[in-house]
Amino acid sequence: MKTIMTMLLVATFIISCGYPAKIVNGTRKYNSTDSSFSSYVAAFESTGSSLTGQTVSASKIPINFGEPSKREWAGEYISYSDGTSEIIIRKSKWDTYSEYDKRELIFHELGHAVLKREHDDTKYNNQPTSLMSTNHFNGSYYKQYQQGLDRELFLKDKGVINSLIAGS
Ligand SMILES: [Zn+2]
Repeated sequence: MKTIMTMLLVATFIISCGYPAKIVNGTRKYNSTDSSFSSYVAAFESTGSSLTGQTVSASKIPINFGEPSKREWAGEYISYSDGTSEIIIRKSKWDTYSEYDKRELIFHELGHAVLKREHDDTKYNNQPTSLMSTNHFNGSYYKQYQQGLDRELFLKDKGVINSLIAGS
């Protein structure tokens, strides 16, 4: 029953993002990150550093509110012809998000920008196994499986997430 409820919640949050990154002529709009995102960036860096045993830094990727290229996108990672890049987040979506939805979106976009990960729609028992899923799943799913999903993001190790799904 819990699984069915989770799947229903997942199905109502179909928000994709743009990747591979669009290459735009010129340079990025922003040089620093809006403070709205600071705690999520810090969580990405500390979680990544802890899991990998190496310094994970997102300081070169500014994150700010704006208009992603497609209306259904909550976020977009954009690369520019001068070699800079940035992440743009749709505020009207962000303002409706729970803490874990916000964390999921920022970890996903930084997964593209910092970890150079592509989308991964691999399922286990019909459940998403990666924060790099094309579609945004409900933050409550992330909260339930955080340990496995964080590990999968930074280490590409699906062992923990798969066993958590199998045990639920
Ligand atoms: Zn994406």
